[in-house]
Amino acid sequence: MTCLECQKELSYLDHREALELLNLELCPAHRNRMVKLMRTHEVPVEAIQLYYGLKKMGIRAMLAWWDGKKTVHLAVSRVKLNIEIDTGHGAMTHDQAMNDLEETMHSFKNGFTTIRIPDFLVHKYLQETLVNIEGIIEGLRSNIKVV
Ligand SMILES: [Zn+2]
Repeated sequence: MTCLECQKELSYLDHREALELLNLELCPAHRNRMVKLMRTHEVPVEAIQLYYGLKKMGIRAMLAWWDGKKTVHLAVSRVKLNIEIDTGHGAMTHDQAMNDLEETMHSFKNGFTTIRIPDFLVHKYLQETLVNIEGIIEGLRSNIKVV
């Protein structure tokens, strides 16, 4: 097994630890980088899993992207797509729901599309989730061409 980022060979222990921590094959250096990103920018691990999934499909995304107001978990800037991972569903209050809607509205006005993906979807159906995101990116790309 090799690191997804630098193709460095992973030892059995490194491999096991990376899978336990992130469910991703990363060398200790890149694993630590991601753990740091999760801590400093509150990026959920699911965003990182989507990032590497998209990378495998040849789609370049950015983790912890600063949009000028807030940090977006994952962004595909070429098509102005923001992806937020929804954690702690079920516990959502009216205020939070309203905030989310307003954020979506503001980003839409600025030409950005925001999609929210529940974390459990990434756990359960990573491939299907990625295929749908890919479809959204394709849709956005063709819309941009038309305009
Ligand atoms: Zn690496």
